[in-house]
Amino acid sequence: MAAPITTISGSKGDSSNSLNLIAAHSHITGLGVAPDSLVPRHSADGLVGQQKARKAASVILQMVKEGKIAGRAVLISGPPSTGKTAIAIGMSKGLGEDVPFTMLASSEIFSLEMSKTEALEQAFRKSIGVRIREESEVIEGEVVEIQIDRSVTGSNKAGKLTLKTTDMETLYDMGTRMIDSMTKEKVMAGDIISIDKASGRITKLGRSYTRSRDYDAMGPDTKFVQCPDGELQVRRETVHTVSLHEIDVINSRTQGFLALFSGDTGEIRSEVREQINTKVAEWREEGKAEIVPGVLFIDEVHMLDIECFSFINRALEDELAPIVIMASNRGSTTIRGTNYRSPHGLPLDFLDRVVIISTHPYSPEEIRDILAIRAQEEEVDISPNALALLTKFGQEAGLRYAANLITTSHLLAQKRRAKEVDTQDVQRSYMLFYDPNRSAKFVNEFQKRFIG
Ligand code: ATP
Repeated sequence: MAAPITTISGSKGDSSNSLNLIAAHSHITGLGVAPDSLVPRHSADGLVGQQKARKAASVILQMVKEGKIAGRAVLISGPPSTGKTAIAIGMSKGLGEDVPFTMLASSEIFSLEMSKTEALEQAFRKSIGVRIREESEVIEGEVVEIQIDRSVTGSNKAGKLTLKTTDMETLYDMGTRMIDSMTKEKVMAGDIISIDKASGRITKLGRSYTRSRDYDAMGPDTKFVQCPDGELQVRRETVHTVSLHEIDVINSRTQGFLALFSGDTGEIRSEVREQINTKVAEWREEGKAEIVPGVLFIDEVHMLDIECFSFINRALEDELAPIVIMASNRGSTTIRGTNYRSPHGLPLDFLDRVVIISTHPYSPEEIRDILAIRAQEEEVDISPNALALLTKFGQEAGLRYAANLITTSHLLAQKRRAKEVDTQDVQRSYMLFYDPNRSAKFVNEFQKRFIG
């Protein structure tokens, strides 16, 4: 499973979306390198070409996975549509399941809701995971009876649950609780269940005829502890990873945890963050928690200004820093907020600490292969001639433009009830939808008729 991806608005970009949307990078499932040698294959995991950049990215990924680097900055530089974001997405897919990956487009930090440094601070803290271990007492036994108590919620989802515990002697009354909402499966009398005392979470272990079940089925984290009074307690260790930002929000009195769902967290006071840092340090000392440095991807990094760069420079020195991967398609340009020019618009002292990976323009064959993968991803059948024409447009007007033509050409093919996209569909799409160069030409020609 891939690492959780967070966008700056706080929504998880995972596959839980049942609409199964085809996004720009949905064809990418990894960096496409051989696991042992880290040698990139020409085309694998949805990625084509850019072998040098992919190899470099996979070395960095390996170091992140081994926990060897944190607080480092990497810049992926290259012309537009040469796969900088694609490579970053490929890296995110190879991260461990609970290693956070945050994507941030630089322009997103300029908002009226919060200062730009606050937005950056939140992005940094979203990219640092805290793996927390918790041991809780678990009651397990057979459900003897469920009484539905409609007076509590007015629905039949609340039930009074009476449980026969493991030793089959004590009857344990769990009181009224929501049953359906806590377990995907409906609990019935005769089920063997376990209840986590701390969280109240119910897990269904089986039906009573499996009473002689193997205790291993309860998972390796389950421990049986003999208490001083002779009672046998079932304890389970649970491990979960949350980001520092999530802990901040939950503990911020002005925000509350619901803000995590809306993404509308506003600014978080620095005292809250200091308290959380102290708490997390305590947990680490007690062996209850460990830090999981993740990855913060900042796209269009040349859009940041000098204050943002100073902030990042300082934040990278922090003990709790993620690895920051930036992308830029600018050559020498002005550093925003100054009158100075520099490579990629990055201040020179900052550029000094950055490791640079570069991406290069694609060959016609590579463009064709990428477009073929995109067509497959969008479930579009395309004739070889149409693919060749798209490749030509890709070379002239950019990969992104050609990829967009796949969707529009498909619609045109469907309109004429054809099963396959042919050259005529691609040609018509090309006439209907302008690429940036033709659009600029159009604007120049009719400049006088536009406003302003
Ligand atoms: P920009 O500088 O304009 O932000 P970029 O270098 O980040 O561009 P991407 O957004 O990664 O470019 O690439 C444009 C499109 O082409 C995306 O849909 C991306 O998934 C796809 N793509 C780019 N390079 C590759 C590749 N090597 N293999 C497969 N798909 C690719």
